[in-house]
Amino acid sequence: MQIVRCISCDGFGWIEDDFTGESTDCDWCAGIGYVYRNGQGVDSKIPREDWAKVAGQLEALEAERLREMGYQGAAKKPWEQDIREGTQGGQNPYENESD
Ligand SMILES: [Zn+2]
Repeated sequence: MQIVRCISCDGFGWIEDDFTGESTDCDWCAGIGYVYRNGQGVDSKIPREDWAKVAGQLEALEAERLREMGYQGAAKKPWEQDIREGTQGGQNPYENESD
């Protein structure tokens, strides 16, 4: 069993609704961003009980994905990602704090 990037959300784990602009968890991968692919090339969700087992693999895949997108070092905060601009996730929850 191979772990591959989710074809539906391209590893993001969420889908943005074209009409409302709201982002929701991807149904295809249950918000993980990655799925199992069997020998027949059929994708299936990674069951919750397997998450701990594949955590290291997912982390490596995610690091690879971020590198592909040009990120270096730490992952950007959701509100720093251009792709989330104008969505719920694109709002900095701390920007109105006064300190
Ligand atoms: Zn997905």
